[in-house]
Amino acid sequence: MSNDTPQKVAIVTGASRGIGQAIAKKLASDGFHVALVARDQEKLVLVQKEIEADGGNANTHVCDLAQRGDFGALIDQLYADLGRIDVLVNNAGMTRDGLMLRMSDEDFEDVINVNLRSVFEGCRAAARPMMRGRFGRIINITSVTGLSGNAGQANYAAAKAGLVGLTKTIAKEFGSKGITANAIAPGFIETDMTAALGEEIRKGVEKSVPLRRYGQPEEIACAVSFLASDGGGYVTGQTLIVDGGLTC
Ligand code: NAP
Repeated sequence: MSNDTPQKVAIVTGASRGIGQAIAKKLASDGFHVALVARDQEKLVLVQKEIEADGGNANTHVCDLAQRGDFGALIDQLYADLGRIDVLVNNAGMTRDGLMLRMSDEDFEDVINVNLRSVFEGCRAAARPMMRGRFGRIINITSVTGLSGNAGQANYAAAKAGLVGLTKTIAKEFGSKGITANAIAPGFIETDMTAALGEEIRKGVEKSVPLRRYGQPEEIACAVSFLASDGGGYVTGQTLIVDGGLTC
């Protein structure tokens, strides 16, 4: 793709599977060129092939968000190569659960590093190209856990709550430059992350959630699509909860 491409560019982290894969496919079908970011190159290539088979455009970029500086450098490179960055979806995330009294400093810091610090790094790097284009959409995937806390997830809840504050701050600092920033807080969505919780928790969730089921990754992707669209242009600084009514 040349530097003067008219096609809008969206970067999606954690695009190798789960929610990120669904977001990447949806944005590609919305007409974005999608930069697929994660660590697993083989899985990224599979997603790229599916997007291309549907007539979309995507490239793969291996990046470990835990490595300070790598994500920022990747975004700089993408801007140099593609000439524009319109949408940044910070979706990648990890858990390392444990009750607080037994949680190590390392488990706390590793989750904060990937789920919060890397998002700050990515938003800072993307803000300048977005300001130059006088257009930008930053969408951070937080969690209902960041809004209500959850026993066994002090690290994850702190990181996800941090994303809400970061998102509101970006909305205020960059609104006058044509950049919006919003968060999406999913409840229980059917992915590898929730598969690890097991059947018992799933049954409990299906009983207690008003919609009586786990959400699908595509239902988060549709919310991202709206926030990235022209129609979502007057929404900023918000956290959109997509949880089947779990927290209502
Ligand atoms: P998932 O299936 O576990 O996928 C996580 C994604 O993040 C993968 O693509 C993974 O790719 C990437 N990733 C993890 N660590 C990374 C690192 N160090 N560097 C680069 N990429 C990394 O999770 P998911 O359920 O789709 O969740 C996606 C987002 O939604 C997360 O932020 C999660 O916290 C949030 N969320 C999920 C749920 C849910 O119920 N599923 C609920 C609330 C919020 P590689 O392994 O290839 O690197």
